[in-house]
Amino acid sequence: MTQAVRNIVVVGGGTAGWMTAAALSQVVGTKRYSITLVESEQIGTVGVGEATIPMILLFNKVLGLDEDVFIRETNATFKLGIEFVDWRRRGHSYFHPFGLYGADMDGVGFQHFWLRWARESGQTDHSLFNAESLAAKAGRFLRAPPQSLATLPKINYAFQFDAALYAAFLRRYAEARGVVRVEGKISGVERDGESGHVSRLVLDDGRAIEGDFFVDCSGFRGLLIEETLGAGYDDWSQWLPCNRAAAMPCVRAGELTPYTRATAREAGWQWRIPLQHRTGNGYVFSDAFIAEDEAVRLLGERLDGAALADAKVLKFTAGRRRKSWIGNVLAIGLSSGFLEPLESTSIHLVQAAIAKLLALFPKTGFDPWVVDKFNREMSLEYEQVRDFIIAHYKVTERDDTEFWRWCQAMVPPDSLTQRLEVFRSRGEVLVGQQELFKETNWFAILAGQGLIPEDYHAVADTISSDELRRRVGMIRSAINERVAGMPPHDLYLDKAGLLGAAARAAVPA
Ligand SMILES: Cc1cc2nc3c(=O)[nH]c(=O)nc-3n(C[C@H](O)[C@H](O)[C@H](O)COP(=O)(O)OP(=O)(O)OC[C@H]3O[C@@H](n4cnc5c(N)ncnc54)[C@H](O)[C@@H]3O)c2cc1C
Repeated sequence: MTQAVRNIVVVGGGTAGWMTAAALSQVVGTKRYSITLVESEQIGTVGVGEATIPMILLFNKVLGLDEDVFIRETNATFKLGIEFVDWRRRGHSYFHPFGLYGADMDGVGFQHFWLRWARESGQTDHSLFNAESLAAKAGRFLRAPPQSLATLPKINYAFQFDAALYAAFLRRYAEARGVVRVEGKISGVERDGESGHVSRLVLDDGRAIEGDFFVDCSGFRGLLIEETLGAGYDDWSQWLPCNRAAAMPCVRAGELTPYTRATAREAGWQWRIPLQHRTGNGYVFSDAFIAEDEAVRLLGERLDGAALADAKVLKFTAGRRRKSWIGNVLAIGLSSGFLEPLESTSIHLVQAAIAKLLALFPKTGFDPWVVDKFNREMSLEYEQVRDFIIAHYKVTERDDTEFWRWCQAMVPPDSLTQRLEVFRSRGEVLVGQQELFKETNWFAILAGQGLIPEDYHAVADTISSDELRRRVGMIRSAINERVAGMPPHDLYLDKAGLLGAAARAAVPA
């Protein structure tokens, strides 16, 4: 059925809802389209989701946000990557940076030359060849290099921010552009008898909201996509057994680290996300391997500052909605699927869905080909992130608890098994052009987890050992010089005028 879209209704005002409303208001605007967002304070939002990846910079750019204002308004810090503690084995840690390692040479990835160099030199620390890793370790940060170092590689970064402040910030942005917010709890959904399309939402006080196109950002429940349209859910817990997260913020202690930390625990892992005014913490675990009370107790004992609130426990099932777009309903955010925040990918998946929605915007109706394309592409996005996350659990020496023994015995999806085999035998990573995680990301994780390839590309053997040492030495000096020119992260935030009001008050004496 062809139906011109004029009235867009966004259901939900969490991160996904306000990101969607803000992007729609900026890109298609509110002159031709009416954009309404319905949310319920009584229901609330998940209120976590604080670490991001560099793609967020692109989203902010599309919105035309001033980065400094955004940082102050959301009490954000800079993030250079993730430190993985105790994942390979207890007492071991490695860093997954946002930037590249070394430099590709003679047409092949740097990891091939690194593998040869590591064999010849006996040194196995790949972080020495990545500026973001070294800067993170030293607690340093600088966005743009001084002019004298402008030829050195740029620093890749993302943000860690307060999710509630981010949603509030985007709300102000969207409302200023004409988005209408409706406060109320949706208690009924009506559908057109002929097309089956959703036609209106009924609030519990009797008000009705009509629309041509509904974006379901209602969270885990999937009010429209699942409860109304029964899209179905692919459950991936045979690979990702964690199904609970206990979140507990604490007071900020010590210096602001420019990175997120993920520490492997007995039945899952713990996140630590430093914000300007507090630190976000959480234990992602499987209740098949640890009791909820015990996980909460352990989390409380493992904070690096005094707790600011009781633990909030969230339940989930790893997986993806079978279809995110059905008829005139498109799901974005937790309503379309969930993968644990080990690589901070959920906000990115929200952003990816928004980008695809804008590219395929249903101006004149809901063409099944367009809908299929969206569903296929989003399915792939979820599967690729899924495989990347599973690799952290599968490639490990840990077998010290029942949980880790379960991970060792788990049979990964074929797509991941193939990737691991090719990397193990030839040092090559099979990645498609559109994939979020590139060769450098896979290299960081697999080498960090202890999977060192048995061989490398033939091109890495075409130079002499002296030439290899010379090139490696040059790369290392350039990186060291780059990092030495960076100030401490705290100092940079302060001197660049990026501290929000609450943060200035929270800076330890
Ligand atoms: C434990 C955990 C940690 C996470 N950490 C990260 C991270 O570090 N990085 C990252 O990128 N992502 C992370 N995420 C994911 C991130 O939090 C979510 O992707 C993001 O917050 C989007 O949530 P949402 O807006 O889809 O849902 P929600 O925040 O649940 O919002 C749902 C909205 O729908 C409204 N609603 C629901 N039902 C009704 C109704 N009947 N009537 C009216 N309104 C209704 C609610 O009021 C709310 O406004 C994490 C998620 C979890 C669970």
